[in-house]
Amino acid sequence: MNNLMQRFRFFMQDRYGFDQLGFALIITSLIISIISSFIFEWHVRLVFRLIDLALLIIAVIRFLSKNIDARSRENIKFRTVWGKISGWFKFQNRRFRDGQTHRYYHCPSCKAQLRVKNIKGKHTIRCPRCGTQFEKKIR
Ligand SMILES: [Zn+2]
Repeated sequence: MNNLMQRFRFFMQDRYGFDQLGFALIITSLIISIISSFIFEWHVRLVFRLIDLALLIIAVIRFLSKNIDARSRENIKFRTVWGKISGWFKFQNRRFRDGQTHRYYHCPSCKAQLRVKNIKGKHTIRCPRCGTQFEKKIR
């Protein structure tokens, strides 16, 4: 058993291994595989199965890859995109949560997202990022 672990470690020595993108590929492939089992139309199912297989193959190729620089660049790109997607969902969640007590506006000059207390009347809002002031009326 120990010998097997050593062999595996030797085999993986200069290979890339696992990362967040690899994890995402396997999870996506798993989800597609589950969805495909509910599809009874055989050619649609075949397309799903092929996508599922392609994702798994990409995950394995990345896992065994010796081009560590290229793989980590892919992972950084993936994490940037994923950060934007999850940031958008977190923002929507927060916006929904304090929809009663706050309003959200965009700064007219730098487009920063601004959160303002929901108090009736005319307000002068100052953007903390760029200092631009603008007026909003809350009814
Ligand atoms: Zn601004």
